Amino acid sequence: MSQFDASNANCEYVQCAVCEKTITGGKWFARLKHGEFMVALCCPLCTEAFESKPGAYVRRIETLQFIRDAQSQSPLNE
Ligand SMILES: [Zn+2]
Repeated sequence: MSQFDASNANCEYVQCAVCEKTITGGKWFARLKHGEFMVALCCPLCTEAFESKPGAYVRRIETLQFIRDAQSQSPLNE
């Protein structure tokens, strides 16, 4: 599952959608839903940044996930 997915309120590990800081134990500042995504934000500044252009951050998350998925499916890791 995605490291940016905060749709489960009890998730032990999620990354801030803006600064990618690791957030553990549900200690996020805020959770925001944007389209299909529920993201976690670590602080007021990141929340403000996300709200100013949510589309850009969601696209970045999608790109990061695509890259990581591609890497994890690489035959080199088998
Ligand atoms: Zn942050």
